[in-house]
Amino acid sequence: MPSTVTSVCVLCGHGNNQSLYKEYKPGAIQLNQCVNCHQFIDKYIEYDRVILLLDMFLLRIQSYRHLIFNYEISTSLLLRLLFVLLFCHGYIESCRYVATTPSLIHLNFHLSLAMAFTEFGIICLTSFIAKGLLKIGHSKLDLNRFLRVIVLSHFIDYCSVIVTIWIHESYTPITILLLFYIPAQLQCYRALFTDHWFKLLSVVLVQSIILKIANSIMFTRRAEFMDSFLS
Ligand SMILES: [Zn+2]
Repeated sequence: MPSTVTSVCVLCGHGNNQSLYKEYKPGAIQLNQCVNCHQFIDKYIEYDRVILLLDMFLLRIQSYRHLIFNYEISTSLLLRLLFVLLFCHGYIESCRYVATTPSLIHLNFHLSLAMAFTEFGIICLTSFIAKGLLKIGHSKLDLNRFLRVIVLSHFIDYCSVIVTIWIHESYTPITILLLFYIPAQLQCYRALFTDHWFKLLSVVLVQSIILKIANSIMFTRRAEFMDSFLS
C-alpha cells in the first residue's frame, strides 16, 4: 500500500502524522510512530486482511479508522460497492414477503429495491442534517469518506445475503444480524468525529428510529400493493 501525505493514528485518532511508514527499499519498510501517542500510526499495514476483517466484526475502532482514513480505495470502486450493497439490502428486504408467482417475485424485488434506495436517501439526508445541527463537522469528511462510512456500517448486508442461502424458513437470523448496524455505524462515526461520543450515539439512535419507522410504513404499503395485485 502506498504511503499517504497525512495519516490518521488508528489508536488515538490524531490526524497530523506525515506518513504511515518509511520505505528503505522495495519490500523493506519501517512503520512510523504517531506524534501524539508515540505508538505505531497504523499497525494494520503489516497485518493480514483476515485479522482486519475479524477486528471489524469485533467492532474495534482501530480497524474502522484504518479503513476510513488510511486505506486507499477509489470513489468509483466505492460507488460500485454501494450499488452491490443496495442490491443486497433490496434482496434481504424482498425475503420478508413470500411471493408465489414469477411476476409477483419480480414485482416484490423491484419494490424492495426501491425501499433500499429510499432508505439510503434517508441515511444521506439525516446524516447531513445531524452534521449541520450538532456542528460535528470534520475537514476530512468528503464524498469518498462518506461512502466508506455507508459501506462499512452496512457491510453486514453482504453477510445477510449469504445467510439467506441456507436459512429460508425464518427471517429471525437476518433480523439478529441487522442489529449489527447500530454499533457498526456508531464505530464509523466515532472514527470520524473523535470527541463527540454521546452526540454521535444520539444521532445513530435517532437515525435508526427514523429508518425503522420509514421501513415499517414502506413494508405495509408494499404488502397492501402486492395483495391488491393478487386480487
Ligand atoms: Zn496516536
